[in-house]
Amino acid sequence: MSHESLDAPPESRPTSDAESVDSLFLGSEVGAESYRDAIEQSIDIVAKAFGEADSPYTGASPEAVEAQLASFDCLPEEGAGLDETLDHVSEEILAETIRVAHPACGAHLHCPPVIPGLAAEVLLTAANQSLDSWDQSGAATILEQRMVETLAETFGYDDEADGVFTSGGTQSNFMGLLLARNKVADERFDHWVTEDGLPPEADRLRILCSADAHFTAKQSAAQLGLGENAVVSIETDDEHRMSVDALDETLDTLDDQDLVPFALVGTAGTTDFGSIDPLPKLAARAHEHDLWFHVDAAYGGALAFSDTHHEKLAAIECADSIAVDFHKLFYQPISCGAFLLQDGTNYQYIQRHAAYLNPESDDEAGVPNLVSKSVQTTRRFDALKPYVTFRTLGRKRLGELVDSTLELASETAAYLQDSDRFACLHTPTLNAVVFRYVPEHVPSDTDTDQYVGTLNERIRDTLLNEGRAVVARTEVDGVASLKFTLLNPRATWADVESLLDDIERIGSDLEATTEASR
Ligand SMILES: *Cc1c(COP(=O)(O)O)cnc(C)c1O
Repeated sequence: MSHESLDAPPESRPTSDAESVDSLFLGSEVGAESYRDAIEQSIDIVAKAFGEADSPYTGASPEAVEAQLASFDCLPEEGAGLDETLDHVSEEILAETIRVAHPACGAHLHCPPVIPGLAAEVLLTAANQSLDSWDQSGAATILEQRMVETLAETFGYDDEADGVFTSGGTQSNFMGLLLARNKVADERFDHWVTEDGLPPEADRLRILCSADAHFTAKQSAAQLGLGENAVVSIETDDEHRMSVDALDETLDTLDDQDLVPFALVGTAGTTDFGSIDPLPKLAARAHEHDLWFHVDAAYGGALAFSDTHHEKLAAIECADSIAVDFHKLFYQPISCGAFLLQDGTNYQYIQRHAAYLNPESDDEAGVPNLVSKSVQTTRRFDALKPYVTFRTLGRKRLGELVDSTLELASETAAYLQDSDRFACLHTPTLNAVVFRYVPEHVPSDTDTDQYVGTLNERIRDTLLNEGRAVVARTEVDGVASLKFTLLNPRATWADVESLLDDIERIGSDLEATTEASR
């Protein structure tokens, strides 16, 4: 090398340097080889961590895990290399995570990911497309649109429909209410929110949903500048569905108060009970009162694939917008959801053009830039996961997987209803089962609800701390309760029965120690 080397073109870099940079990226033979090694090692780690886990969690406390991770150097001056780093992650991090595929992991709407979805995740991550513009995605943009069309058809929409993949129900619910707010401001107050902010009448705007609706209805109202007091919670019936009588009364009251209800959120699968609001009646009220009807089907949307249960979603096609999550009952790796819009022209309410990304000339030339359909800019090619899964398994098979989990939930509820050690708190609509352990006796000088609630909470904590099971707790009528969310198609009645036996044992041990300490 002469003194000219400073100005030398890149191809004259010393080979070893060039090779080592190449090995960090896809794009050359060296890179492809290095990728293969890294992924193969990762596969071994996954198989070791999640292949045959005998418990859903180690039971380590937050303090213990915090102490263990406290010594990790998150930003070393010099790297340790991938082999060592992957070993470290495998042994010291993944080993202390929740094993979502274990049959006793049944707390939240948190599914075991199906293998075709995991394969797709590998592909889309490496392809690293961004769905905001055509020139960052090519076929990925078109595939997402084909998936949106397919989903729209599945939920009974016609070809006016549109939509977009989202990070999940939170974002999809937000988008539904965002469009609804902007539309009502335009139509009733002749006010264009994206330019002029909220109209002076904004403090009269109201969103209606059931008392059991997901908290993101309120969160969205807060983010939309309406405040969460703009959300009017309608009481529910015995089965935790919105009461239509209560809805009618509320609509009358709001009218008398000169308030402006503009959106009605129906839930198809409430987070706690899995109950489904009476969608046909809600659709009729929305139509009558000129409300934007949004259906939060984040959980229950998967019933659309079931030959046995799809009727439970009747009238969902009347919704102006639908939220559906694939990372719940469609078994996709997190995150993966969709927002569907009955009338795609409503996207005008969030239309936005950036010269560098989606100039209007692209629209005229028919170049699809999905950025204007989303509240995200850079966006993953998550549509590939359900695409690969649907193609691999087909609708029927997916529907059957869902059906089997609903059957297990029914069986579980029937057992709980027959047992005097448990109280089953509802008849499951989906696969969530809410119940309580019933103590053998309640000490005479204690508040029964409080005693029962504390006991059930401690059962849940014991199961987690022993690494025996991940079970949810929630509150029903102010009393803590237990919840199984039986999403896992591999979970059997034998798994549930043995878990209930353990709950009984833990419950009676806790009762004995409480008695002894009195
Ligand atoms: C899970 C869920 C949400 C929130 O969705 P994320 O995917 O967690 O953002 C909203 N509504 C319902 C009914 C849900 O079950």
